[in-house]
Amino acid sequence: MFTIEELRENYENFDDDQIIKLINSDVKALTEPAIIVLKEQIVKRELSATYLEHINLERNFFSSREKEEIQRVIKYLKCPCCKQDLERLTGHSSSRRTGLFIAYTKSDKNYIVCSSCSKKTTKNDIIYSLFMGWWSAKSFFMNFYDIGNNIYKTNRREQLFEKMSSELIFYNTGFLRKNQCSKESINHIVKELYNPSYQEMEDFQNIYSQEKHQ
Ligand SMILES: [Zn+2]
Repeated sequence: MFTIEELRENYENFDDDQIIKLINSDVKALTEPAIIVLKEQIVKRELSATYLEHINLERNFFSSREKEEIQRVIKYLKCPCCKQDLERLTGHSSSRRTGLFIAYTKSDKNYIVCSSCSKKTTKNDIIYSLFMGWWSAKSFFMNFYDIGNNIYKTNRREQLFEKMSSELIFYNTGFLRKNQCSKESINHIVKELYNPSYQEMEDFQNIYSQEKHQ
């Protein structure tokens, strides 16, 4: 663990690009003394004030009460898979394996959807693996584990929801804070988890900031 003086000395030797790279990496993971020194460097080097704003938003962690409130909003969102809001959302995790004689491929699905979509996806993945998962020596044995694991996870949807939504909220701290945890921003991160599209994310932020400045 570095002292604040050692950190100052280190950061002093960084060029601007390295400082910006550090800001754009996961600032949530830095220690409090490192954040103090990083902010000092931004001011000293007269870098854009948006970097300070970025750090403040990313480090404005949610209290357990705030996190629970966002999780409650997530529960009642439209399902990103079937687009219906007839059921509460839950955590889904399943995988399917394709044996290719000398190799195999495996695809994992970890997202938040309604119970019906989760059940349907698990069923489809099990059926797929039953037909396609056996065709290589290694995947033959792994397939037993995958199918068992898919079945096991169907009884753990609520635990999966707790874990996935907590991680999702933590990972998107800055984005949610910037958008005052609006329902649209919460819906966006859930959709993004189901079907990632970084381009869309950028468009969303641009649209939002344009609206804000008008
Ligand atoms: Zn659904």
